[in-house]
Amino acid sequence: MTDAVPFLDLRTPYLELKGEIDAAMLRVADSGWYLLASELSSFERDFAAYVGVKHCIGLANGLDALHLSLRAMQIGPGDEVIVPSNTYIATWLGVTQTGAVPVPVEPDPRTFNIDPDRIEHAITRRTRAILPVHLYGQPADMDPIAAIATRHGLRVLEDAAQAQGARYRGRAAGALADAAAWSFYPGKNLGAFGDAGAVTTNDDNIADRLRVLRNYGSRVKYTNEVQGYNSRLDEIQAAILGVKLGRLDAWNERRGVLARRYDAAFGTLEAGDKLVTPIVPDWASPCWHLYVVRSSVREQLQASLRAHGIGTMIHYPIPPHQQAAYANSPVSSMTFPLASQMANDVLSLPIGPHLTADQQDHVIAMVTQAVGG
Ligand SMILES: *Cc1c(COP(=O)(O)O)cnc(C)c1O
Repeated sequence: MTDAVPFLDLRTPYLELKGEIDAAMLRVADSGWYLLASELSSFERDFAAYVGVKHCIGLANGLDALHLSLRAMQIGPGDEVIVPSNTYIATWLGVTQTGAVPVPVEPDPRTFNIDPDRIEHAITRRTRAILPVHLYGQPADMDPIAAIATRHGLRVLEDAAQAQGARYRGRAAGALADAAAWSFYPGKNLGAFGDAGAVTTNDDNIADRLRVLRNYGSRVKYTNEVQGYNSRLDEIQAAILGVKLGRLDAWNERRGVLARRYDAAFGTLEAGDKLVTPIVPDWASPCWHLYVVRSSVREQLQASLRAHGIGTMIHYPIPPHQQAAYANSPVSSMTFPLASQMANDVLSLPIGPHLTADQQDHVIAMVTQAVGG
């Protein structure tokens, strides 16, 4: 009997880096500086360099990164922002927190990401920005989105929460638009030991506004230029992220190996609709945050894997427009068939830098058995 395969294992990555991470945490404890000090500036410098942009502004979490970058773009009540119909609800909440209205656009069902061909249809005279998500770590098709934005004078903000290390036509996610919002939630490819987030941008104005907004609207202590927020990435998290950033490419490489192994094993099954593996366009280098299959027998597949000790997840079971949170919004009475279909048939299999070949073989064998290969 093979050991159980957890969907997500955060402890083994820590153990690999225990010496460095423990030293980083103790260094902060000993420094006597816990907010907005040297660990944050050095992580901001390193992450901006990793992404290849001028600025990185550390924030408290990914939702604030979305919300505050839209504010820094001066988007608010009366404005509309185009969002994917299928995404984690944070994408939409970042828009509604500014007072603007999220306008959903359906995905390209092959890639799960917003379909550029459907965007122009959703543009009105209130539209101010497009907010594509690099869902599951697969980059959205950014060139046509940029062309549409230029034609209509719109801003583009990447939701890069799942995309640390992903590349689009050789360019890094996070450097493909006016700004990008990042989450360093523990389960992300670059994860903290608690909540953390950031924005990357080449735009000096957006960067400057964010630095003020995150710290009570203050540039000089006790002088408040705007009604700001408390949204700071603390020194301990920044120090841990700095250590883990050094491992990001190697760990993503390992995720890529696992994804290709899944593809190869499942590619020969001829399971039809019972098992459809992710489609990766030739211009995309995903960072494999998630390995998401689609299955017409998803519930049976998930139950059967669970019975064999294999953890899976559904990202996401209810699309934002069908959530009670948006029951009072006009979108609640609209239909988004592709988003709803995906909610019914997607299943995320275990993937992570420390999933062993034995564990993956067990997953492959049990998936094969369940779909009748
Ligand atoms: C995780 C995530 C967020 C939000 O990040 P938090 O740090 O949890 O606030 C936003 N968008 C997407 C697509 C995410 O996966």
